[in-house]
This record gives sequence, structure tokens and C-alpha cells, in this order.
Amino acid sequence: MPHMIPEITEKIKFIYVENKYAESYFIPIDTWAKSEIKKVLEACSKVNNENEIEYLVEDMGIKDVSQYEVVEGYGCRLTAPGFLDCTDWCVFDTVEECREYLQEAFEICSYCGEDMPEDDSNNCSNCNGEYYNSKKENNIC
Ligand SMILES: [Zn+2]
Repeated sequence: MPHMIPEITEKIKFIYVENKYAESYFIPIDTWAKSEIKKVLEACSKVNNENEIEYLVEDMGIKDVSQYEVVEGYGCRLTAPGFLDCTDWCVFDTVEECREYLQEAFEICSYCGEDMPEDDSNNCSNCNGEYYNSKKENNIC
């Protein structure tokens, strides 16, 4: 069993936040309590409400916010069940794009998190999940 396993959300809202150091984060909106979500969405829909947003995302450890917007999509990351370890969220329009990203960024099976083999097999030996074509395409030169 791999230590880190892939997690893909339903289509949900995220707040995309950028800080003054050009670091960016996607924060799933359900990370906040219900009362806070309302405040965040209200603040995002108003121009010149940066103080409120900064205050809310500072609780998430993000300082010096320079830009933010509400985006909707499928979030993906790797998590270690039972531990606090996880990678940052990435958000895409489709589940397929999430799987492709997970596979390419971490070289793992996007279903179970098992390391990808060196050979060019099409399916994961652990869960039989299908690999994305990009791996094969990259090998054709
Ligand atoms: Zn697998």
C-alpha cells in the first residue's frame, strides 16, 4: 500500500489565492465553516474587499494575498491517510485531467498511488487502473 494516495474531489468551489511572492493556492471552500464560506463568497464577489479575504485566508497560513478568485472544478492531490501529509490542491475542469496531472507530476497510478513501472505497461499492476496515454506519447520520438 503506497504511503500517499490520490484524492479527487467532486466538482466543487475553490478559492484561488495568489500572494505577493507569486505563490498560489487552491483552497476548497468546504475547508471553512458554513458561516465563513458565506463571508468568503461575499467578499470575493465584492471589489475592494481585500482585507476581509486576507483575514480569512491568513487562518489557512497564507499571508500577503495579492489576488483571489472563486473557481469551480475537480480538485486533486495526494494524501497520506492517518497523517497530515498532503500535497497542494490542483484544480481542473475534468476528472481525466486530474488523473493525468497526478500521473505525470508524481509518476504514480492515479487510482491507487502505486509507483509507475519502468516498462510501458498500460495498466497498474496493483489495481489494474489504466494509465494515461501521455506516458506512451512522450516515449515516441
Ligand atoms: Zn493502481
